[in-house]
Amino acid sequence: MTLPPVSATTTPDPALAYRDDLIAAGLLIPTGVDGLYGRSALFESVVTGLDDAVTRMAAGDGAEVMRFPPLLTREAFIASGYLKGFPHLAGTVHSFCGNEAEHHRMLAAIDRGEDWSQHERPADVVLTPAACYPIYPVIAGRGKLPDQGALVDVFSYCFRHEPSVDPCRMQMFRMRENVRIGSAGHVQTFRDTWRGRILGFVERLALPGALDVANDPFFGRAGKLMAEGQRDQQLKFEILIPVTSESNPTACISLNYHITHFGEIWPLRMADGELPHSSCVAFGIERLTLALFRHHGFDPATWPAGVRAELWPSP
Ligand code: AMP
Ligand code: ZN
Repeated sequence: MTLPPVSATTTPDPALAYRDDLIAAGLLIPTGVDGLYGRSALFESVVTGLDDAVTRMAAGDGAEVMRFPPLLTREAFIASGYLKGFPHLAGTVHSFCGNEAEHHRMLAAIDRGEDWSQHERPADVVLTPAACYPIYPVIAGRGKLPDQGALVDVFSYCFRHEPSVDPCRMQMFRMRENVRIGSAGHVQTFRDTWRGRILGFVERLALPGALDVANDPFFGRAGKLMAEGQRDQQLKFEILIPVTSESNPTACISLNYHITHFGEIWPLRMADGELPHSSCVAFGIERLTLALFRHHGFDPATWPAGVRAELWPSP
């Protein structure tokens, strides 16, 4: 498989060249900060096509739809353990809570070009790092799970502090997820079902995707061991698609198995009192969009008929 050439020739970095092309075509709108972009109407039409295609794939599963703003409670964020594994990716929200005199001191610090963050205090919300995070405390708050467990459909912008010139590595991006909470058997069936679905999906989108075992980017020395353990137990699989590099393809869809991690935290309980397992399938909507533009060109009207039918089926 060979990637089509990028048109920008002024930079040897193919990720930067692809970003330049996307900006020149008006698909991404630069802000001056790596990883933070506006999206054009055409870009958003592909986003909507992908979102609707995921809905059709899961139609009949009976998932409960939940939509949260891209914020988590600070309490849920701390409880999730995110700061243990990924302190470098987290984004917290702070606000000014002082009086007028303190306000003047903050503005003066800004005028002098000094650090003004000390004039703010942590808010009781933080930015959501993954679309599924808000649901576990909500499900736990309902009491014991029903016999059939829970199945939830979520979609959210997510924040990760990983600025990069690679347009596939954004700081704010959308994740569409289906999350299964239930017995080990329920979760195994969910993983088997979605493994087949996501492979079929990328095939219908005519994208050269391959499923591979993966690990999360855990922080530090302890994180290295966690990443190795995650791989050894095959807890995370990703659909990898070459977008800006053939040798280093991009993870566009993840299939994650948390075993009883979230069950223990909240705590969640099955009807019989057992700890539930959980798993989620997460579609990186921007990455899939960028993969489609990369492989099929910047004009969706000229994309292969099968790809268009998958995204925009005629009524
Ligand atoms: P993860 O929770 O890391 O498995 O992420 C779920 C999905 O979100 C991945 O499969 C990617 O498609 C997408 N994703 C993760 N990080 C980023 C990012 N920095 N920019 C864009 N998409 C991302
Ligand atoms: Zn998830």
